[in-house]
Amino acid sequence: MKIPRAQADAIAAHARSGYPHEICGVLVGTARDGVVRVARAVPVTNRETERPAVRYQIAPEDLIGVQRSVRAEGLDIVGYYHSHPDHPARPSETDRRIAAEGLSDGVVHVVVGVEKGERATPSAWVFRDRGQAFEPEPLEVDE
Ligand SMILES: [Zn+2]
Repeated sequence: MKIPRAQADAIAAHARSGYPHEICGVLVGTARDGVVRVARAVPVTNRETERPAVRYQIAPEDLIGVQRSVRAEGLDIVGYYHSHPDHPARPSETDRRIAAEGLSDGVVHVVVGVEKGERATPSAWVFRDRGQAFEPEPLEVDE
């Protein structure tokens, strides 16, 4: 996936500001010929109330709101992002299970590890129906 530097920085800043809770958001852009290009990262409220340090939840109405607001620009939801406070920057088993229930093939997912609220490390993944798992996805940051 390709993402502009400013948007990658915005995701990292969001992840740091939400620490020690998980933060989440939506990636909007285009997906053509197997190439996902992120135009913008849109922060969304983490609706998880019981264990926000280790879980996140995106409300369907928030997703619909984002979708409506970007459709006029010819953009769509191409993926999601969330943070892992003091946990590795890779999808957890919980992430995999939730994705298997809802995500479709080829949707990208950025997981940002945040160490002590300071160092934010992003990684990109793509969910594959075949195998019901996340596979590593190259994260290309455009200057
Ligand atoms: Zn996670």
